[in-house]
Amino acid sequence: MDRKITILGAGLVGSLLAILLRRRGYDVIVFERRSDMRKAAIGAGRSINLAMSTRGWKALELAGLKQDIESLAIPMKGRFLHLQDGSTAFQAYGRNGEAIYSVSRGELNKRLMTLAEQAGARILFNKRCQKVDVVNNKIYLEDVVDNSNVSSQVLRHSTDPLEEVQADLLFGADGAFSALRTAYSHSDRVSSAQDYIEYGYKELNIEPGTETPWRMEKNALHIWPRGKFMLIALPNTDGSFTCTLFMPFEGELKNCFSALDSEEKIKAFFELNFADVLPLMPDYLAQFQRNPVASLITTYISQWHKSGNSALIGDAAHAIVPFYGQGMNAGFEDCSVLDGLLTELGEDWGEILQRFQERRKPNGDAVAALALLNFTEMRDKVADPVFLERKKIEKEIGLLYPEEFTSVYELVSFTHTPYATAMKCIAAQDALLAEIMSHGDFKENLLRPEFKLKLDQWMEEYSKQVASFEFA
Ligand SMILES: Cc1cc2nc3c(=O)[nH]c(=O)nc-3n(C[C@H](O)[C@H](O)[C@H](O)COP(=O)(O)OP(=O)(O)OC[C@H]3O[C@@H](n4cnc5c(N)ncnc54)[C@H](O)[C@@H]3O)c2cc1C
Repeated sequence: MDRKITILGAGLVGSLLAILLRRRGYDVIVFERRSDMRKAAIGAGRSINLAMSTRGWKALELAGLKQDIESLAIPMKGRFLHLQDGSTAFQAYGRNGEAIYSVSRGELNKRLMTLAEQAGARILFNKRCQKVDVVNNKIYLEDVVDNSNVSSQVLRHSTDPLEEVQADLLFGADGAFSALRTAYSHSDRVSSAQDYIEYGYKELNIEPGTETPWRMEKNALHIWPRGKFMLIALPNTDGSFTCTLFMPFEGELKNCFSALDSEEKIKAFFELNFADVLPLMPDYLAQFQRNPVASLITTYISQWHKSGNSALIGDAAHAIVPFYGQGMNAGFEDCSVLDGLLTELGEDWGEILQRFQERRKPNGDAVAALALLNFTEMRDKVADPVFLERKKIEKEIGLLYPEEFTSVYELVSFTHTPYATAMKCIAAQDALLAEIMSHGDFKENLLRPEFKLKLDQWMEEYSKQVASFEFA
């Protein structure tokens, strides 16, 4: 292989990309800003997890990692709702017991890095890309002195002059605040945007139990929907749960981070809203006061590559809010698509990167929109009886018309349907479900042959409508 590949970032996507490119024989070097998480005590005591779904698994399979990671993954077959009145309910994600999987982000990243190195990639740590000269394809690196043993957050930069590296083919897999993305955004006729939402998040932890490790249902994603805010919890293999509280930074009343500025207020807030969590998290007050609030961003950029010489991938190309659990999945799908283009087009990188942008940019935009939409669904609608009824009908329709109907959630989480197509299906499914629900009780209606005939007709119309969409 003629081209030498430089990757910025040894995160989830950068490490996976390194594996896939090494397997094709490319010389790969990766520059990572952080120290090696396999050696340093980064994030010690905290177990952050991500939901992996079908798109992510496919990419791991390509890298030969699926079986290895499966042993770390906990299937979550649905949402386990904890309602304000103390009642609980379970909503299955799929019609046939499909699941999304809770995976430790740190373990996954470590294994991907090790596999990348075993495949022959070189990862250089504590190397932060300060800037990129896009025209000449040069990167400028700063050595970062790692103080992670003192505090995982403190990185001190050396004052030495920047190291200049001439890249041949450069990938920016350096996350939401990508140096390559920043450089692209300063180029002529490149539009870019970043939108912070008014919500932030704080991570909290439920420790494993002494008698039974998982003190709540293990195979579910737990949600405490509270209208304008919500708490979620994903299971870890050690029996703990990683919880995330999503809430506005500022706002009216008491339900925002800025208002919870005293022990009394924090206690009152948790006692009122998350009473069933308190016995599981006796140190919630200390955790709440200790753990930082992080912000949530969506980024857009019109140009994903430059003349066959550089390209953005993963969060660097499309950082999204986490409410569909698709950020990593979308980044991994970028890698599978790029790998497919390499098979199709050989080494014609100009064409490969152009097609990569054409195929992935609309899907990056669509998954960003889907993620924002799902936020309202998770924090608010999942507790609404009309919405719950609709979900039940969706499942029934899926079982009655398995060839014709797959819900948007299933399309996103359990298929490889382009995100842009899933987005288009929303309007068609809204219209179909509104029609069905306008006739009253669905189960009772199904017993009437004339209703079944109408349903067949609606399904035919729906099928015609979506037939023009691209599903492969
Ligand atoms: C709260 C939360 C929950 C989430 N849950 C899910 C989920 O359930 N499912 C899911 O699919 N996704 C989820 N995501 C999204 C997921 O974390 C990201 O999409 C994923 O990590 C993107 O991987 P990446 O490799 O592109 O970027 P990153 O993971 O950000 O990795 C970028 C790497 O580049 C390095 N880097 C950054 N800047 C530089 C530089 N200048 N020079 C050198 N190196 C640099 C970083 O240190 C890092 O190692 C969640 C995100 C958040 C915030």
